Amino acid sequence: MLILALSLLSACSVTFVERKPPAITPQEQALLDNPSPELLSAIDKYVPEASAGVREAEAIALQKGRPLSDEELILAQRVGVSHPEKIRIFFTSRFPIDENELHQGGDIVALTMNYGIFVKPYVSLKRESYLEIITHEFAHVVQFERLGVEGMSRRFNLETFILKDKLIPIEREAIAMGEAVYDDPKTSYAFYRLAN
Ligand SMILES: [Zn+2]
Repeated sequence: MLILALSLLSACSVTFVERKPPAITPQEQALLDNPSPELLSAIDKYVPEASAGVREAEAIALQKGRPLSDEELILAQRVGVSHPEKIRIFFTSRFPIDENELHQGGDIVALTMNYGIFVKPYVSLKRESYLEIITHEFAHVVQFERLGVEGMSRRFNLETFILKDKLIPIEREAIAMGEAVYDDPKTSYAFYRLAN
C-alpha cells in the first residue's frame, strides 16, 4: 500500500466539472501535525526507494524535455521557483507511473518529478488550460526545492497514508499557489482519491 502511494507522487489530474475537496477534519489535522513515531519510521523505510524512483523519472524528462519558453519562465518565477532554468518539460503520452492503479477523479495530465515535468501532449492544445496546469506543476517544483526529493517523498506518503481518500495538503497547497498566479476558470482540479 505504501509502495502504491509512492508512485502517486505529484500526479496531477484535471476535470471540467466544478468540485470542492472535502475538508480535513480536526482529528486528521492532529494526526498530520503529530504522526506517531511508528508511522514515521515505517514511512522512512520507503523514502530511499521512492526518492530513487523520482530521480530516475526526473532523468528521463531532463534528457528528453525542453527548457521553458519565455512565457513559462515568467509563470515559474511568479510561483516562486528558484531555478526555473533547471526545469525541462517533456510532452509524452507515456508517464513513468502505472496510471491504471491511480483511481483518480479525472485524466492524469501532468506529473512533476523534481525539475522534470511530464505533460500529456493533448494538454497543450488548449492554451489557457495548459498554462494553468503548467503553473500548478511549477508549484510542485517549488515544493521540491523547499523539501528536497526525500522530504517530498516523506511528506507525500505521510499525508496520503493519514488521509487515504482525501486531497492531501501538498496538493491543496500547490493548487492554491498555482491558481494565485494563473487561473483558467474553465478548468478545475480533480480532487483525486475522492471518496464517492
Ligand atoms: Zn498537483
